[in-house]
Amino acid sequence: MEIEKCFKLTKKFLHCPRCGCSRVGNRAGGLVVGDFTFDRWCKCGWKVHIDIREDSRWEDEEKTDIV
Ligand SMILES: [Zn+2]
Repeated sequence: MEIEKCFKLTKKFLHCPRCGCSRVGNRAGGLVVGDFTFDRWCKCGWKVHIDIREDSRWEDEEKTDIV
């Protein structure tokens, strides 16, 4: 995956929308980036799977980041 897309996805989904946890590893959650896929999951049970060929959520800009 292109680093720019990977970065956007990571930034967008780093924090779990359910519990706010951003921890990855030690069974607290996980993050896996493939050539076309992005998986992020959390210990609370939340998870997201994105295939950038079919899902355009990575294109969403975080409006709140604009200063
Ligand atoms: Zn969570």
